[in-house]
Amino acid sequence: TLSDRLTSVLQNLRGKGRLSDADIDATAREIRIALLEADVALPVVRTFIAKVKERAKGSEVSQALNPAQQVVKIVNEELVEILGGETRRLNLAKNPPSVIMLAGLQGSGKTTLAGKLARWLVGQGHRPLLVACDLQRPNAVTQLQVVGERAGVAVYAPEPGNGVGDPVDVARRSIDEAKHGQNDVVVVDTAGRLGVDEEMMRQAADIREAVQPDEVLFVVDAMIGQDAVTTAEAFRDGVGFTGVVLTKLDGDARGGAALSVREVTGQPILFASNGEKLEDFDTFHPDRMASRILGMGDVLTLIEQAEQAFDQEQAEAAAAKVASGELTLEDFLEQMLAVRKMGPIGNLLGMLPGAGQMKDALAQVDDKQLDKLQAIIRGMTPAERDNPKMINASRRLRIAKGSGVQVRDVNELVNRFFEARKMMAQMAGRFGFGGPGRVSK
Ligand code: GDP
Ligand code: MG
Repeated sequence: TLSDRLTSVLQNLRGKGRLSDADIDATAREIRIALLEADVALPVVRTFIAKVKERAKGSEVSQALNPAQQVVKIVNEELVEILGGETRRLNLAKNPPSVIMLAGLQGSGKTTLAGKLARWLVGQGHRPLLVACDLQRPNAVTQLQVVGERAGVAVYAPEPGNGVGDPVDVARRSIDEAKHGQNDVVVVDTAGRLGVDEEMMRQAADIREAVQPDEVLFVVDAMIGQDAVTTAEAFRDGVGFTGVVLTKLDGDARGGAALSVREVTGQPILFASNGEKLEDFDTFHPDRMASRILGMGDVLTLIEQAEQAFDQEQAEAAAAKVASGELTLEDFLEQMLAVRKMGPIGNLLGMLPGAGQMKDALAQVDDKQLDKLQAIIRGMTPAERDNPKMINASRRLRIAKGSGVQVRDVNELVNRFFEARKMMAQMAGRFGFGGPGRVSK
């Protein structure tokens, strides 16, 4: 798996520094293989990797993660994004009945899905009606009836013995049936072929035309891998669809089909099926699918932990420094940045009674000012940042010139820093924060 392959890179010491192009290329190569192994279509892999590389090359240096971990993190975030970010909700009509039509190849799991969807809709307070428009296979109607019974919902099907009915007709009549039965959602199950087939497409398109569904869900078996793209394109062009349902995710498919179908058709994935039972069904979660495609849930957890541990360490180190009045300008800058992100020191300050004012003052620094402060501090030598007391008049002049600001800006920053440091140390002492004893309640 990818995680095995990346283990050596991931074992580097953390905080190695800037991502080098070589690091990015090496990691991207491994990820490319992982995506191909997960059956993501080649053109989709190419576009994706290009996007990730671009972002990785422009990314900030993380101190919590090593370069490979950073690239993996970016890949994961981009995957989640491409898979839809947040789950898209089912579109239902303002005036019931809403119509949901299922389309897809034979065996993709449409009829099973009809039952799952019905059960799910009941759970959401709806009263669905299942409609049997697969009149091609002899036992398809019976299968839907069984599924409907299990889900505890009504099924509309052509009368037996009247010969083979016309699926378009059945679909059309089902709407009236739903109105009579006070069903607010109609789920139309359709026929599929083993391969893409013109007649099947035309029939599905005719049904769509006749009942004007609020959603047409393209049902696709996650196990078909690379074929998912051509099938999705055929259905997009032949019938059109508004959403995707992935089935058979309980198998060993890595789910690359999801990424391909989503990327190629631009339609969101709404649901995922992962078993033959009615309850093996859920709304689609992009983050879970991303980690499945990458096949490195453990690595992602490690990355998260590394980031959290780093935050924690920083917070503790900062707290100790605050209490002892040893805060440096470097810390000061970091904390301003952190407060803006509501990072560790923001939370820390928030826990101190009376610290609200301080926090507000820090939070009010706007981006422009912050850039300026950052430029000034960056213009100082490490020794000056560590020991701001040494920043005398001539040093201030040099810093101002170097960072393109006025001397008074440097003065203001240094003064503000000393004030903040004093205030924070006092608060820390007063509230028993960071030091032994003197705990007040
Ligand atoms: P249809 O031809 O599109 O209506 O597909 P069916 O609903 O009849 O499903 C075809 C086969 O796939 C049946 O044996 C189902 O039990 C099975 N099936 C459907 N969905 C899933 C799923 O999510 N996981 C698994 N393992 N099997 C499924
Ligand atoms: Mg079926």
